[in-house]
Amino acid sequence: MTPFGYRRAQSIDEALRLGLTPGAHFLGGGTNLIDLAKGGVVQPMLLIDVSRLPLADVTATADGGARIGAMARNSDVANHPLIRTRYPLLSQALLAGASPQLRNMATVGGNLLQRTRCPYFYDTGFEHCNKRAPGSGCGAVGGINRNHAILGASAACIATHPSDMCVALAALRAQVHVRGPRGERAIAMADFHRLPGDTPQRDTTLAAGELILGVDLPPDGFAGHAHYLKVRDRASYAFALVSVAAALDVRGGVIRDAALALGGVAHKPWRRPEAEARLVGHEPSDAAFGEAADLLLQGARPASQNGFKLTLARRAIVRALQTAGAQA
Ligand code: SF4
Repeated sequence: MTPFGYRRAQSIDEALRLGLTPGAHFLGGGTNLIDLAKGGVVQPMLLIDVSRLPLADVTATADGGARIGAMARNSDVANHPLIRTRYPLLSQALLAGASPQLRNMATVGGNLLQRTRCPYFYDTGFEHCNKRAPGSGCGAVGGINRNHAILGASAACIATHPSDMCVALAALRAQVHVRGPRGERAIAMADFHRLPGDTPQRDTTLAAGELILGVDLPPDGFAGHAHYLKVRDRASYAFALVSVAAALDVRGGVIRDAALALGGVAHKPWRRPEAEARLVGHEPSDAAFGEAADLLLQGARPASQNGFKLTLARRAIVRALQTAGAQA
């Protein structure tokens, strides 16, 4: 492990000032970053501990939505009464992730910045990984790629985004609030994570030195009909092969609005508004759910070992929508 400096930020302004230091990384719960640093995958020069900043609250907002502070722990958010009752999709997704110990430690800001679990990325003894060493090639293309992307991948990288929380946030159309050297801005979840293209080393659209302050949820939490379905190789403490965040607003037997996003299939939570629009105005039915699934998966291109994900994803989408739609 390369030696690094450590500073505990006493204020957001101090964190932002320190964040301009070359090689600086913000440290929340450390459940991913410390592993990466220990393995030499990232080599921080300075860790800026932001975990004690006053950004851990979950509060109702004036517009009827909710704000979740970036330093709120995953367990606290999942079990918060406001989230459990108004945004059950998010609560379910958080509880599907990692283990209780990790959820107690991990922060919402850190979860947004989780790196891929591609094994070639974590193995520094392996030469070819464009995400870790830009320009070195991709070991997963033509290598072990059972867990990799079937949508939105590039020749440079076929990694998947690992978070469950982010899939629910994408479906719920959350916004990420950040502050940096150029001030404060809000980024739609759909635009926060990137597809790999030619620059897979960049996971997000955060600019240099920007600190995540929190996440805003809109007033409509789809509380009545929401289901997070995670399909994985074992029942707990495993990343998704495919996951589905599905929620419906059903009134009078007709779908008035729909929220749908996939995890485990792309470099970012995968959402396509056309798939949601296909459901609106229709009665919940297997036919409508299947058509929405086909739209969401349009353009899928499996790698050599993960063709099964296409069938799995279609079935998971339909099942998640059936479960959400069947709720009272
Ligand atoms: Fe690296 Fe991406 Fe290829 Fe994995 S899929 S080896 S993260 S470039």
